Order: sequence, then C-alpha cells, then structure tokens
Amino acid sequence: MNIILLGPPGAGKGTQAQRLMETRRLVQLSTGDMLRAAVKAGSEVGRRAKAFMDAGQLVPDEVVIGIIADRIEAPDCKNGFILDGFPRTTAQAEALDRMLAEKGLKLNVVIEMKVDDTALVERIAGRYACAKCGAGYHDTFQKPKVAGVCDNCGGTEFTRRADDNRETVVTRLAAYHAQTAPLLPYYRARGVLREVDGMASIDEVSRQIGRVLDSF
Ligand code: ADP
Ligand code: AMP
Repeated sequence: MNIILLGPPGAGKGTQAQRLMETRRLVQLSTGDMLRAAVKAGSEVGRRAKAFMDAGQLVPDEVVIGIIADRIEAPDCKNGFILDGFPRTTAQAEALDRMLAEKGLKLNVVIEMKVDDTALVERIAGRYACAKCGAGYHDTFQKPKVAGVCDNCGGTEFTRRADDNRETVVTRLAAYHAQTAPLLPYYRARGVLREVDGMASIDEVSRQIGRVLDSF
C-alpha cells in the first residue's frame, strides 16, 4: 500500500508515519529528513537546499523530485511506502504521478491531517527528537515515559530542529497554504483523498488513520 500523509508542518505526519512503520510495515519517505541528512553530510543537494530550509521556504521542485525519484527505486519501497512531506507543490504531485506510472505503482490513498494554525505553532515550538534513533517527542504532548530517556532506544541526547522557531513557522505555514493546499482539490478530484481530525490526540489520530487504511 502506498500512501501520502498530507498536512501542514507540525500536523503530526512524522509521528503517525513512525507508528505506521511499526504497525503496517511501510517505509517512511520523509523529504524533510532526507534534506536534513543531505545538509549534515554537506552534499551537493544539501548545499542547494540549506538556505531555503533555514528561511522556512520550500526547496526547489527539481531538487526534491530528484531525491524522491532515487529513493523510490530502493528495494525496501516495494512493499509499500508512506510519503511524509512530499509532494508539496502541484509540480511535485505531477512528477510523482509520472514516477508511479513508469514503475507500474499505484497511489492508494492521500490522508489529509487537518490542524488549526495556532495549534501548529505550539506543536512546532515544543518538538524535539532523540539524537540517536530520531524518535519524535513534544515538551507537553508526547513526553518520554522516563524523563530524559528515549522510549525507543534508551538514548539520553535529544535535538531540536534549527527551523523550529516561531519566526520560520510563519513562513512555513504561509508556504503550506499558498503552495501545498492546492493539492487537496488535486487529489480530491482523483477520488483518493480522505480526511482525519489532526486536532485529536496522537492515539485517536492513529485510530482514524487505521480505519481509513482498513477500508482498502
Ligand atoms: P509533522 O511531521 O507533520 O511536521 P510531527 O509529527 O513532527 O509533525 O509533530 C509535531 C509535534 O507535535 C511533535 O513534537 C509531536 O510530538 C507533536 N504531535 C504530533 N501529533 C500530535 C497530536 N495529535 N496532538 C498533540 N501533539 C502532537
Ligand atoms: P519538514 O521536515 O517536512 O517540515 O521539512 C523541512 C523543510 O525541508 C521545509 O521547510 C522545506 O524547506 C524542505 N522540504 C521538505 N520537503 C519538501 C518538499 N517536498 N518540497 C520542498 N521543500 C521541502
């Protein structure tokens, strides 16, 4: 099963994708994670992407389409994948359609995670992750069971993203509304769009996504 989690920054896409990897054995394809890895590695892609990411703007389409095209070729994608943070523009969605058609793959469902802008700012401001395994946490909404210790790997170091600050969030939300929201009618017209209440608790959102996936 190949799915897209579509929603604004901070909607909970990564949180739910991490759970779906466990429960459904799907691979998470997060362009944000791939770009951050490229920046860290100092690769050509990373050098092209960094200034856009720091400013909270979208990285140019051809850069992101290139990394997804390479990643989708990998054998682990054959059993199904979750696209998290891609596509984010109509040009990216059209490129994805072409890539899938070339490979004879189908997009089963696009799940829209609806969350109010004010809640997004709070979620992004409190977000952090385990430095070792990448498991996601939140200062208020998703604390580790034992303070300072990762539930998943026992790691004790945590990181916050450089772009998770209140100034950049405004630009990122504006980019979502202007450039990504047009994908909602794009996928609705194709009959693959389903909606979940992203304002609900993490467990409740997981249940709603589970019900959508079980209906296929
Ligand atoms: P995205 O991948 O869409 O940018 P994340 O999954 O990283 O968003 O979630 C953003 C932050 O909000 C994280 O710190 C996460 O723990 C928290 N979070 C995710 N889903 C919810 C939810 N349903 N309710 C409250 N907080 C949430
Ligand atoms: P995310 O981790 O999804 O919040 O993405 C972090 C940043 O990476 C975004 O603010 C963009 O600068 C960049 N980015 C991630 N995915 C894409 C994409 N599909 N298209 C353009 N830029 C992206």
